Amino acid sequence: MSLPNVRGTLTPNYPLGQESWFRCGGHADLLFEPADFSDLENFLKNYDGDVMVLGGMANTIVRDGGIRGCVIRLGKGFADVKVEGNVITAGAGALNGTVASMAAKNGIGGLEFLSGIPGTVGGALRMNAGAYGMEVKDRLKSATTIDRTAHVRQLKPEQMGMSYRHTDVPEDQIFTQGVFEGVAEDTEIVRARLKDIKAKRNETQPISEQTGGSTFANPDGMKAWELIDRSGCRDLQIGGARMSEKHCNFMINTGNATAADLEDLGDEIIRIVQEKTGVTLCWEIKRLGERS
Ligand SMILES: Cc1cc2nc3c(=O)[nH]c(=O)nc-3n(C[C@H](O)[C@H](O)[C@H](O)COP(=O)(O)OP(=O)(O)OC[C@H]3O[C@@H](n4cnc5c(N)ncnc54)[C@H](O)[C@@H]3O)c2cc1C
Repeated sequence: MSLPNVRGTLTPNYPLGQESWFRCGGHADLLFEPADFSDLENFLKNYDGDVMVLGGMANTIVRDGGIRGCVIRLGKGFADVKVEGNVITAGAGALNGTVASMAAKNGIGGLEFLSGIPGTVGGALRMNAGAYGMEVKDRLKSATTIDRTAHVRQLKPEQMGMSYRHTDVPEDQIFTQGVFEGVAEDTEIVRARLKDIKAKRNETQPISEQTGGSTFANPDGMKAWELIDRSGCRDLQIGGARMSEKHCNFMINTGNATAADLEDLGDEIIRIVQEKTGVTLCWEIKRLGERS
């Protein structure tokens, strides 16, 4: 297949899994990192194969057999963050942490929760990411998407079907930008909250490990970690994959895990929790590509 001319980078057989937070898994047949919006638009119009978009890969297992087709990763060309009054416009490639610290610097409160969520604005929009009682939909004014045919849309949150760790926007729509609104607050107060969040995360989550955040979504009115604990799965290990001692809904790669170890461990926990409690846990982590 001939590839479109691009200004960004197109890399065949890219070792993508190694760049995920889990640091394991397979290659992408092709990785495209567009230079900017028009480069992405041109690529979508002229590329014939399957595409998938990824951000910081903080919520992703890339299966060992890799990903067929092209993975689009939005980076520097989509990382601008602009502030006007209490409104922040962020490219989908910007890190959540950058949005939170820009908000603090400009005396904008209400976006602190983003500071502890690894990954990009694009991933946060797709996942309706959240923490400490706030989620993206609470602060979102609008989002821009481009679909597989390069059709661009401006969406309001009420058109996006946002619910707990979920957005109804069709999978072929790539978020390119999000506009968020906070509230005017004293910079020092906002900074103090960021400091609190950092301390809390350090204490309760294995943030320096090779992990992917919460493995399972919390079922309605229940905590996934409690169900895992109650079912005796706290210390479960398969190959190089085990549940974190700090937070038993966080799965970690102890060093030599394959993506299959991680996925098998998650599936085994689903089986045991179902058997012991009657509750079926659902994966929050996205598992992408093919098993080898
Ligand atoms: C230590 C740790 C702590 C975490 N804590 C939290 C937490 O408190 N709350 C929380 O909600 N999450 C948490 N997570 C999970 C993760 O940070 C979030 O899900 C985050 O939003 C993922 O963003 P990402 O850019 O890494 O997305 P990726 O992992 O790259 O992708 C995740 C999904 O989003 C899609 N996607 C990515 N970019 C785009 C785009 N531009 N357009 C359309 N779709 C896109 C992908 O196709 C995929 O389906 C944590 C993860 C870790 C490792």
